[in-house]
Amino acid sequence: MLTSAVTESAMTSAVTPAAASPATPAAQARTLLLNASMEPLCIVSVHRAVLLMMCGKATVLETDGRMLHSAHVEMPLPVVISLTRYVHVPMRRPVPPTRRTVLQRDSHRCAYCGGGADTVDHVHPRSKGGRHEWTNVVAACVRCNHRKADRLLHELGWELPFTPRAPRWSIAFGSGAVRADPLWAAYVAA
Ligand SMILES: [Zn+2]
Repeated sequence: MLTSAVTESAMTSAVTPAAASPATPAAQARTLLLNASMEPLCIVSVHRAVLLMMCGKATVLETDGRMLHSAHVEMPLPVVISLTRYVHVPMRRPVPPTRRTVLQRDSHRCAYCGGGADTVDHVHPRSKGGRHEWTNVVAACVRCNHRKADRLLHELGWELPFTPRAPRWSIAFGSGAVRADPLWAAYVAA
């Protein structure tokens, strides 16, 4: 997309990760790319991040202390970078609340008991007019979902620990395959 003009191949062969780490191996690490306005744009490979930085197209905002080494360059592993020039991004379609995206938004935690969640619950039950939208869905474990059935929270004396809303990470985290780095949190906060 934005960076398609830049090829990764040169850096892929030139940069090797530092010594093995218990965290994500440096070669597989991902970097959060922000626009110059500090809005999250997407997630790129570390190699692409390094390329953007070496071309002067991006600057580093966060590193995780690990170093990348190559014949030509030695630099801290970039965790968050921002473009030096603002790139206009056309409006993108919002991500719909699906089982996968809702579980992802709620970190696979049941909104009612805090346990591991596999299902999605409509806070205001659909049978009572509740709509299928981000503000009315939460991750729930099978047990809580079953116990709640089509009742309202106040009927059960239950409360939500947060106000459900659409995630802001529709762009950056849409793939679901990428594990968010804790250092990204400040930049993608809802
Ligand atoms: Zn539960």
